Amino acid sequence: MSAGTLPYDPRFGPVTMLEGPAKGRYPEGNSLLVEGSRESVIVDPSLGILGREGPLPEISRVLHSHCHEDHIAGSHLFPDVPWHFHELDASGIRSIEGLLEIYGFPPHIEAGFRDALVDQFHFVACDDPQTFVEGDVFDLGDVTIRALHTPGHTRGHCCFEIEWLEAGARRRLLYLADIELTSFGPYYGDAWSDLVDFERSLARVRAIEADWYATFHHIGVLESRDAYLARLDRFEAKIGERETRLLEFLSEPRTMADIVEHRFVYRPGDAVSFADPVEERSARQHLTRLLSQGRVRRLDEERWERA
Ligand SMILES: [Zn+2]
Repeated sequence: MSAGTLPYDPRFGPVTMLEGPAKGRYPEGNSLLVEGSRESVIVDPSLGILGREGPLPEISRVLHSHCHEDHIAGSHLFPDVPWHFHELDASGIRSIEGLLEIYGFPPHIEAGFRDALVDQFHFVACDDPQTFVEGDVFDLGDVTIRALHTPGHTRGHCCFEIEWLEAGARRRLLYLADIELTSFGPYYGDAWSDLVDFERSLARVRAIEADWYATFHHIGVLESRDAYLARLDRFEAKIGERETRLLEFLSEPRTMADIVEHRFVYRPGDAVSFADPVEERSARQHLTRLLSQGRVRRLDEERWERA
């Protein structure tokens, strides 16, 4: 145990999962503390870091998998060390306007969300975030963290490959961030999301062999490749399930308002303030694909039907 970790925090070599309340279910999350012989870093400081007993971890930098509210909620606790983001997401931390651009919510939703970013998620702008790109390596001394650019959730979303030697054998933990493997399925409903990129990123992480697979939300750490692949299959299958349900719904002509109201990402009744724009953006990406495949036809500007 070291400064900032608790006896029940799961440990994997130099990596400790700082598990959030409710196992990191949104808006909470699971952060990682990675301790090398030269320096330590925290990855994705979540809301739960604020409520932990004991001292904060002593770290030299904060790494972020991407710029979303739940992954930066605890970053302000570390004001004196560099904050790192992939270069494509860094504008989200420079200003709250930059962050709001990533979501792209309509004005009537953005106003309330802007308040939540500050009041609930403790957004603090950083004038000079450090940026990294695909393949960049952080060498902490006896443990390395390599950035894998896995866009789709946001433009700059990254996974981190964390490697060290243990009794002469190479050990690897793959941190998947918001390729979170939950039953909700992939989230690609922001202005800066992209379904096709997300699918490419899923194929990429599928090929990576690791000893452990960790996610930011409540799946925590998976310790076998079989468990990982089974979770990944179910997670990825949600994309096809949404598309199939959308096709079925289009067995008669439907407008975008119909599609949004029916809901394909959230469940009817889920109390999510931004559900409508997320439904619309997600549906439009599926419609683009279905149109290009000739499986759906556009009847007029905002009405579609199964072909
Ligand atoms: Zn996210």
